[in-house]
Amino acid sequence: MTNPLDIKAIRNDFPILSRTVYNRPLIYLDNAATTQKPRCVVEAIENVYYNQNSNIHRGVHYLSQRATEAHEAARATVRDFIHATSSNEIIFTRGTTEAINLLATSYGETFCNENDEIIISTMEHHANIVPWQMLRDRKGIKLKIIPLTETGELDIPAFESLFSEKTKLISVTHVSNVLGTINPIKEIIEKAHARNIPVLIDGAQAVSHLAVDVQQLDVDFYVFSGHKVYGPNGIGVLYGKENWLEMLPPYHGGGEMIAHVSFDKTIFADLPFKFEAGTPDYVGSVALATALNYLQSFGMDNIAAYEKSLLEDATEKMLKIEGMQIFGNAPQKSSVISFLVNNIHPFDMGTLLDKLGIAVRTGHHCAMPLMTALQIDGTARASFAFYNTHDEIDAFIAAIERITKMF
Ligand code: PLP
Repeated sequence: MTNPLDIKAIRNDFPILSRTVYNRPLIYLDNAATTQKPRCVVEAIENVYYNQNSNIHRGVHYLSQRATEAHEAARATVRDFIHATSSNEIIFTRGTTEAINLLATSYGETFCNENDEIIISTMEHHANIVPWQMLRDRKGIKLKIIPLTETGELDIPAFESLFSEKTKLISVTHVSNVLGTINPIKEIIEKAHARNIPVLIDGAQAVSHLAVDVQQLDVDFYVFSGHKVYGPNGIGVLYGKENWLEMLPPYHGGGEMIAHVSFDKTIFADLPFKFEAGTPDYVGSVALATALNYLQSFGMDNIAAYEKSLLEDATEKMLKIEGMQIFGNAPQKSSVISFLVNNIHPFDMGTLLDKLGIAVRTGHHCAMPLMTALQIDGTARASFAFYNTHDEIDAFIAAIERITKMF
């Protein structure tokens, strides 16, 4: 099948990909940590600062009105990208982490009482563990943990056995940042809704790889970070069903999130502003929308298909290397490969790959409980984006083979 994506042209959109490190061409395989930015995203940032920079909302002057329009148009772009019903359901945050903290506070303080239970999973990033532990310490709730199968998938029968009349929320990741597993979130949401329990999905590792349709999923809350979807750092999104967001109290207080303030009482603003205290990141929002439009121009299904070919190519070739151990081999897997070779420490593997111009991540990947479950300290992790090539995979394989021989 011919690839509908022109990868050479796409790579030209990302200036950093043509740089060298240690006099070698950069091979960037750390996309799960953060993606590189296409020129249009950087130019969008430049354009806002050079041509329309002004604080937004309530400004009577020309620039403020243009900046406000751009920010709200960006919100509409995010809405369309994840197919939300209304812009009121799109809350800009600083990222996935802040979005989960917002819910752990706002939802947690409102709907959870002592001994209530929240279900998360063994494969969660710390961002979807620690905020719930902090809530546990404040409110005396309990965390229940979905175990994994041998292939690194959520154990669904075990998940069902965790439900009780005390369950108040399910919060799981869409895609594991370590194992690459794409979780059956629609099934999870259906099972939770059958018991009237809302579901929060951590989409940090999903939105750049697959089409997300929050209406089709019927998900209650869905969160992601701009910097992992070719957008800028420092902005992210909380999607929430409007009826849920209406019921939740604000997270932070300050300007922008109010309708009226007196020393006796504050009346909060309507959605989505109720959750956006302080000057919004009106530069980041526009740049994020630019990134999402850029992605859409290729089609998420084309991106997913090409990344699958990269994953399959890399997996097949890696498994031919003696002593190679890959963590996570779910049939539904995104383009992330965590691996160890013999007893080579992942830090050594990462450092030597770096010297050959290849950027991978090493360590616990902010998923220490998962490392404990796997009985390892860490892995090396290669994660592919749609600008990576099969030639880069060959260079990566050759580098691992070379390093393996050194030990
Ligand atoms: N959740 C998952 C699955 C992640 O991979 C990450 C980042 O690696 C996060 C949450 C946290 O994202 P951020 O640091 O952008 O808030």
